[in-house]
Formats: sequence, structure tokens, C-alpha cells
Amino acid sequence: MSRNEQLFERACRSIPGGVNSPVRAFRSVGGTPRFIKRAQGPYVWDAEDKQYIDYVGSWGPAILGHSHPEVVRAVQEAAVNGLSFGAPTEAEIELAEVLISRLPSLEQVRLVSSGTEATMTAIRLARGATGRAKIVKFEGCYHGHSDSLLVKAGSGLLTFGNPSSAGVPPEFVSHTLTLEYNNLDAVRQAFDQHGADIACIIVEPVAGNMNLIKPAPGFLEGLRDVCTQHGALLIFDEVMTGFRVGPQGVQGLTGVKPDITTLAKVIGGGMPVGAFGGSTAIMKHIAPLGGVYQAGTLSGNPVAVAAGLATLRLIAAPGFYDKLSAQTAKLAQGLQERARAAGLAFSADSVGGMFGIYFSNQVPTSFAEVSQCDTAAFNRFFHAMLDHGVHFAPSAFEAGFVSATHDDAVIQSTLDIAEQVFAAM
Ligand code: PMP
Repeated sequence: MSRNEQLFERACRSIPGGVNSPVRAFRSVGGTPRFIKRAQGPYVWDAEDKQYIDYVGSWGPAILGHSHPEVVRAVQEAAVNGLSFGAPTEAEIELAEVLISRLPSLEQVRLVSSGTEATMTAIRLARGATGRAKIVKFEGCYHGHSDSLLVKAGSGLLTFGNPSSAGVPPEFVSHTLTLEYNNLDAVRQAFDQHGADIACIIVEPVAGNMNLIKPAPGFLEGLRDVCTQHGALLIFDEVMTGFRVGPQGVQGLTGVKPDITTLAKVIGGGMPVGAFGGSTAIMKHIAPLGGVYQAGTLSGNPVAVAAGLATLRLIAAPGFYDKLSAQTAKLAQGLQERARAAGLAFSADSVGGMFGIYFSNQVPTSFAEVSQCDTAAFNRFFHAMLDHGVHFAPSAFEAGFVSATHDDAVIQSTLDIAEQVFAAM
């Protein structure tokens, strides 16, 4: 038995499924997860000291590559001064100020410790600020695991959804309307019917949790218009896209201004940090100013904040996103060329430092379309790449991530390996 197999067997005895977050368990691709011992730049090493080129990037945060020396130093320096105080610090003001200065839609932010907390509270804030109960989300978008967001679409277009997790009573999601991504007509119809009761729309403005799905031209602008018209709030869940697709997230790329933005991943530089923010007029509803309650023992944790500040400083370097986007596009296009040359139905897409690979002839635009991709082919590809030392996300329904350390040599060696793998498929 290999060391990874031994560890997995041992993990499964003490941890449900052997993992602390389900997708890590390789359930959809089969086989044994790699237990990671260390990571540096574009590489991770598993329990057998096998090196992999990593396109998971801790599911997004590792935009500078793993263990960037300046981020690690910031963490070490902060740790020496104490791990947690439960009292305000100057560094958390700095992090708030940096976020506000980078994203024009933010006038105030509150720091939390995960994306789930950020989105859960953003929903509560939208409900508290509008006095309305209903919320709109989209099929295939993931916004963390709070009850009212764990919803799959109902059987009819405009029926309220069903829980997508056991343990969530149907009443808890009875106010959540789940619509098709990129279908503005469905949104307009929903607001025609329920507009006066809808507190907010929450959307991944570029979806990264059903593989990568871009917003159709006009979709986000349409959501903005509908919300404004009906007095509902627009929440951009930029937990994944924030500082990943560009220096101002999707709101910077499109010019569409949300009322509330949620952030996590990159802003913590690999440490647990999340945030939600918006205008002062909206944020005044949050405790202790207003009646919408939210709190956290470790919120604004000084060590995590130090990692976030160092990361945000480094990614502000001139040309950072031009380079990152170019490398990511090189990978996506290179994979597509090689797969098609091998006669496979394959396409790829990217936005900034995020990419999608699809075993289908066309880039999908909705959850229904992405569900048509050949997952068996993806699983074969995934395992062959893994055997050759390239670690993609272990699911056909996840986006991939490139870091600033994925240089030409790293991309080229990925493409060389992929060429062999595609040919053998
Ligand atoms: N929103 C989005 C768009 C996400 O991608 C994720 C995590 N992948 C979350 C929310 C939840 O964040 P976390 O895992 O930090 O709770």
C-alpha cells in the first residue's frame, strides 16, 4: 500500500470520509487523494515526496504561488506578537482600507473567517436592510454551506427550491428561488411575480463552482437593472473571483456595481479570511450599529490579516494581472489545441487567473450544459495527469487556478504531458 493510501485509510477512521472538505476525497474521480506535505511556488509534494504542478492553488488563494517568502515572513512576524486578541488591531483597519481603496463598490467592510460566513451574513444583511425575506440564487452557483443557500432548483422554473443537503428543513429554503444562470428572462419573470418580497440576488459574477462559466453579455447588467427597479440588493459573491480575475474582481471587468460584495480566498493569502462590504448606508445595519447580528471570535485574526495584507500588496505590482491572465490563457488554449489535435471533444476557457476545461465541443454557458460534458473522459484525463505529476482539481465541475509562479517552463511542461495523455486517450 502506498503512503497516500495508508494515510487515507487512517484518515477515514478518525475523519468522516477522510477529509475536512468533501471534494478533497476524490469521490467524483475515484482513487486516493494525495496527502500534501509541503508546497512551494507552482508545486506541491505529497506524502511520498512526489512533486506535482498544482492547478488547485488551495482552491484559489495561492495566487502568488505557494509559500511566497514575503507572505510567510509577514505571518511569522505577526505570530510573534500574538495569535489572537479578540480586540481591534491597526492591521485590520489597514486591510479594510486596502479593500475599500481597490473596489469602488465598497465604503465599509466587515472581516470574517471564511467565504461561507461572508455570504451567509451578506444574505442576512440584505434581508435586514430591505425587510424582505425572499432571495434569488442560480443553479450551479455555490455560496458556501449556510442553510438558505444549500438549495437546488425546484421542478418548475419559478418554484422555490428543495434543500440540496440533508439536515436542512424545507421551510429553511422556502424563501430561496433558484434560477438558471445566464437566463435573464427567468429573473424578470421571478421579479414580476415576487418582486416586492425579494431582498436580493446573489450571484457568482463569473461562476467557478460548476467548472468555469462566464456571464453572458448583458446578464450582470440585467441583474443590476432588475434589482434597482424592484428595490432589491445585488450581491456579487466574489469569494473566488475577487482579486483572481483582475485587480477589481468581476465588478472591475464589467463595470457593474453590486450593492454588497463578498470576498475570501485571495484576500487571506492562504489564511482564513473572508469579508463582506458595501455602502455605508447598507453596512450601518450591521451590529453594533444596526440590528443585523454578526460576530466572530477569530474575525480579523492578526496572523491571517498579515497574510492578506502582504498578498494584496504583492498583487498590486504593475502588470501582475496581464502576466497572470496571459499565462492562464496560454494553458487553456494550449490544452484545447492539443486535445483537439488528438481528436477529442474538448474546449477550454479562462478569465484572469481562473480557467475551465470541458470535455465537450463547446464552452458551456449553464449548469445544464456543463452537466452534459463527458465526466468519464475528464476522470481519465485527471488520473493520467496526476500520474505524470500534474494536479488538477479532482472534479469535472471545478474551475482551475494559475499562480504568478506558473512561468513558461511550468506551462510548457504541463502541455507536453497533456499532449501525451490526450494521445493515449
Ligand atoms: N462563495 C464562493 C463563490 C466560493 O467559491 C466558495 C468556496 N469555494 C464559498 C463561497 C465558500 O467559501 P469558504 O469555503 O471559504 O467557506
